[in-house]
Parts: sequence; structure tokens; C-alpha cells
Amino acid sequence: MSDWTPLSKAFKGDIVTPSDSDYATSIARWATNANRNAKIVAFVKDSEDVSLALKFVKANKLPLAIKGGGHSTAGGSSAEGGLVIDLSRHVNKVKVDAENRLAYVGGGALWADFDKATIEHGLAGVAGTVNHTGVGGLTLGGGVGWLRFTFAASLASLARANMFDGSSAHGLVIDNLVRVTIVTADGSIRTASSTENPDLFWAIRGGGCNFGVVTEFIFKLYPQRKTVYAGYIVFPPPMLEQVVSVTKKWWSKGPDKKEGIAHFLTRVMLFYNGPEVDGRAAYKAFFDIGPVADMTKEIPFEALNAVHNPQLPHGLPTYLKGVRATKPSIEVAEKAFQALIQHTEKRPDMNMSCMFEYFPLAKICSVANDATAYARVPYGNVLNIIRWTEDTEENFKYARNAAGEISNIVLEGNTELASANNTAYGNYDHEISVDDTDGELAIDKAKVLFGDNYPRLQALKKKYDPEVLFSKWFAITPA
Ligand SMILES: Cc1cc2nc3c(=O)[nH]c(=O)nc-3n(C[C@H](O)[C@H](O)[C@H](O)COP(=O)(O)OP(=O)(O)OC[C@H]3O[C@@H](n4cnc5c(N)ncnc54)[C@H](O)[C@@H]3O)c2cc1C
Repeated sequence: MSDWTPLSKAFKGDIVTPSDSDYATSIARWATNANRNAKIVAFVKDSEDVSLALKFVKANKLPLAIKGGGHSTAGGSSAEGGLVIDLSRHVNKVKVDAENRLAYVGGGALWADFDKATIEHGLAGVAGTVNHTGVGGLTLGGGVGWLRFTFAASLASLARANMFDGSSAHGLVIDNLVRVTIVTADGSIRTASSTENPDLFWAIRGGGCNFGVVTEFIFKLYPQRKTVYAGYIVFPPPMLEQVVSVTKKWWSKGPDKKEGIAHFLTRVMLFYNGPEVDGRAAYKAFFDIGPVADMTKEIPFEALNAVHNPQLPHGLPTYLKGVRATKPSIEVAEKAFQALIQHTEKRPDMNMSCMFEYFPLAKICSVANDATAYARVPYGNVLNIIRWTEDTEENFKYARNAAGEISNIVLEGNTELASANNTAYGNYDHEISVDDTDGELAIDKAKVLFGDNYPRLQALKKKYDPEVLFSKWFAITPA
């Protein structure tokens, strides 16, 4: 057992060990299968505390994890027998500089804090669509959200992405990141932006927790109306073909910059960044085919990223599997729906969903692939979420196989791609295991995720974290 005294002497935050009454809540994660028995949870107060904790971890050769919002289902923010640097208790504030349209956000803040603080000033930024997720993990992996803003893209890049939206589009959270304060593996507190440590700034925009502990993010904000139109419409299963057909038409015309859909096959979440009357007009084709339930309405902006919350409570074992789809497809939707029905009949104790995100992608793809570490592809995310109650290996395996089967249906529907393989969004899929471009089994999953950006990331890993202190999420091999 290590002696914590050297750490606790100078440390300003709280240290929690297994004998403390708040230990169980301190190691609890959104998905209970991600809970691990840490030896110590260090609730840091500031960057200096983070620096102390990192030095302590190195001196004692402890496994390390960083925790923001705690939503990694793969245990990315947990450390069995190790030390967790937890930013959520103290490093969670959001300050808004309304004049300069900037938000200063603690590395352990939640998106709910961000949405609430920014809209008070009539401003908003791109944020996660489930507001109890953390700003930290979601941002560092790329970050997709409902909002998108007008963007003057180059003609070449628009041509590349014009199947989605020709004039204005959606950006990733990292595309709106201005600067970070980050504590790197050697314990140094650095700032990174386009002008300060630009190589580090490049790496953290998509490179995840590979390069350090971010204690502050600074994001660009944009004027935002106080209400938006959003909610679910529901169709009976026999209408699936009609629903996807309407979705295909909506998608192929290039959705307006105010629109976006999260498609759960027969349950569809509509979003329109405007008043209800305009939203209903924009989605008239969906209403014309006759949903059996209509829960859409004009809601306060800060309620938008809470619409999914009731379906996604804390405290259940969970398996997440992401893939990407090139287009809406009736055949894929029907096969995926059948698979979901079959698995649900076999395992009624499991809650299974498959969500197709139809957020216009032009802005994401108009940023050059090598402008940030994030590997950009002009395809929409598909996310399988499977949740159950009893945390057993058998249940985990069942969920993993079922999610894999549905994901393969989606991949096989990407008929225009030379290979059925296409990598998923790293924050939706921690197990990317596709073959690499040479057709060989990928041993280094970070290599698959980052593609062409990997060699540069490897060089930066060697510069900033040669001993691979930060080994969670997609750990980059230094080279
Ligand atoms: C219900 C749900 C909804 C989701 N919705 C979206 C969505 O709308 N858009 C989207 O893009 N993704 C979404 N995701 C995926 C999400 O981006 C990832 O789960 C992400 O890892 C969550 O970050 P977190 O801070 O909550 O998690 P954590 O488990 O705390 O952290 C995840 C990873 O990030 C690292 N990390 C966290 N904070 C920091 C920090 N400050 N500095 C350095 N490293 C840090 C951790 O070490 C860990 O490896 C969703 C996931 C879930 C479960």
C-alpha cells in the first residue's frame, strides 16, 4: 500500500480512499460496469493539484485515470488499484465572457452547466446532446452536438461534402475550441492554442486524454434564441419503410442549417433551431405520414440537451458501439430493426437502441483532415446503446455480440465504400477492431482510429508523454 502523506500535505483538494464514507460514490460511473476499485481518488482543486497528483502517480508507479463527467463505458475514467484525478467536484465552473462571446469551462464541468450558463447571456456553443455527459471527455474526442453555425467553407471542401449540406453546416466541439490549460505528464502546467504550443493544441483536438489533464477549456459562443423546437415523434413498426423514406428525402435535399434529426428507427427526435411553427413546417413530411405520438414542442434552449436524459439514467451496466453510415437506407433500417426485435424478444431485460445521427456534416468535413488530430469522414454516426441490470460477464458478452451484429448490418449497407470497414467515432466506440487498410488485423487500435494523423500523434506522444502515463481511451504508441 502506498503512503499518501506526501500527496496530501500540499494537496488543496479532497483525497478519498476505500475507508472513506464517500468512496463508493467517488468511484461510481454512469455505466456501473465502468466502476473500478481505485486506491485513491484525488478530487483536485486546480492545475497545481493535478501536477502534484501526476508526480505522485509517477513516483509510485500507479495506474492513472482522469475523470470528467464519468461517461466512458469502457472504464476510461477509472483505475483499478490506481489513482483517479477527478475534476468533477471542484473544477466544474463555467464563466461566460459575453462581450467576447467566450466560455471558460472547467475540465470537470458537465454540458448542463455549460448550456445553462451560456444561454443566460443569449449565447450558446456546440455541446453534447445528453447534458449529463462531461465537457472533458466529449470535447477531447471531437464532440458532436445539435448546433451548427454558418461557415464559409472552401469550394473544394464543399464539393467533398455536398451530399450533406451545400451552404452552411455543423461543427465539432473542437472546431469551437480556442484555448486550453493542460497539465502534461511531466507535471508542467501549459496553455495550448493556435499560437501557444500549437502542436499540443493540434493533438488534443481529437487525441483524447493522451496528452494531459485539461483543467480549462475556452470555447467560442454564438448568439442563440432562448427557445427551440424539439422532441420525439413515434411511428408504429409497420410504418418503418415510410419513415425512412421521408428521412431519405429530407436528407438528400440537404437539411437546412437549423435542422437535425436523431433517428431511432420508429422513434425520431426532431430539432429545429427556431419557433414551433417553423419547425413543424420544416418537418411537415414526417407529420403528413401520421405519427402515433407527437411529443415535439417549443422548449427552453437549455432543455434541448436534456430531451434524451430520461432514457439514459445513471447507474446501469452499458455497452456502447458506434459505426458510421453513408446514407439513410430502408434496407439497413429494416434489417437493424428486425435484429433489435429479435434480441429484445430473447432478452427482454435488456434495453437496446440504435440511433442514426443525421446532423449535416459539411462544416466538419470542410476542416482539413490534418488541421486537428480528429479523423474526419463525411458519414453520419450510428450509436448502439445496450443497457441491462445485472452486471455479469455473460450479460456483457450478449450485449457486445448484439451490438456487433447490428453494427455489421449498418456497415454492409455502406455499399459505395470499397471495404465494409469504416472506423467509428472514437467517443462512441472504444473497441474499434476493424482491419487496417492493408487488410491486416489492426493491433494498434489508435492507429486505426487516427488514420493518416497517427504518425504525427505518435511523435507528439513521444514529446509530451514518452512513458505513456496517459494510457486510457485510445492510447497512442510513442514513436
Ligand atoms: C449517454 C451518452 C451520451 C453521449 N452523447 C454524446 C454526444 O452527444 N456527442 C458526443 O460527441 N459524444 C457523446 N457521447 C460520448 C461521450 O463523448 C464520451 O462518452 C465521453 O468520453 C464522455 O466524457 P466524460 O467526461 O463524461 O467521461 P469520462 O468517463 O469522465 O472521461 C472519458 C475519457 O476522457 C478523459 N477525460 C475526461 N475529462 C478529461 C479532462 N478534463 N482532461 C483530460 N482527459 C479527460 C478520461 O480520462 C477518459 O479517458 C455520449 C456518451 C453517452 C454515454
